[in-house]
Amino acid sequence: MYDVKGNLREVLSSLPAGVKLVAISKYHPNEYIEAAYAEGQRIFGESHEQELRQKHTTLPNDIEWHFIGHLQTNKVKYIAPYVSMVEAVDSIKLLREIEKQAAKCDRVINVLLELHIAEEATKYGLSLDACRELLAGGEWRQMGHIRICGLMMMASNVDDEKQIAAEFDIADHFFNEVKTQYFADDDSFCERSWGMSDDYPIALAHGSTMVRIGTRIFGPRVY
Ligand SMILES: *Cc1c(COP(=O)(O)O)cnc(C)c1O
Repeated sequence: MYDVKGNLREVLSSLPAGVKLVAISKYHPNEYIEAAYAEGQRIFGESHEQELRQKHTTLPNDIEWHFIGHLQTNKVKYIAPYVSMVEAVDSIKLLREIEKQAAKCDRVINVLLELHIAEEATKYGLSLDACRELLAGGEWRQMGHIRICGLMMMASNVDDEKQIAAEFDIADHFFNEVKTQYFADDDSFCERSWGMSDDYPIALAHGSTMVRIGTRIFGPRVY
């Protein structure tokens, strides 16, 4: 096995106090998650509903599962009973479905709004204007079973650290904009989920409060 425990310790020691680590365990077997769990890690991130379901039913109950991938509305009902956070909400339609399914389960589900800032055309997420529109629409205010906890984004997959830093900066400024405009009195709107294995040190310098790290802990994924 990859030295999951050693890697996890190394990553944790590189994070400032208060920054949350989401250990991205997609495509990795339960024994890798159990190794991280034994070190005290409790927040894990997955991006496929079936894989998450399988892991959720076989691993300890106190794991907080974050759904980090693109979530189809027809899959929400399967994860609503237990998911801790849906990190990549990129439409009002998805938000409505999470609200509906969370209500059925009598739960409140934490969500992040996913921004699309990176240059890649294939990445999901809301443009800044689409995100402004969603918030200005106000429908989310009536949703009693979701809690908007902040924003999530992925930087472009490039070597240019200046570009990556600039993208995190855009997200950070945008966070301040919407925090001031919509969430000034809402302490739960505080998370900035940016930073992955290759770019999280840059993300930490640009406002990140939550990093999503897979490869650096669990090794390369076998698809
Ligand atoms: C897979 C994934 C990660 C983790 O990427 P690593 O480079 O392995 O750290 C983070 N965020 C999202 C949205 C992902 O899909």
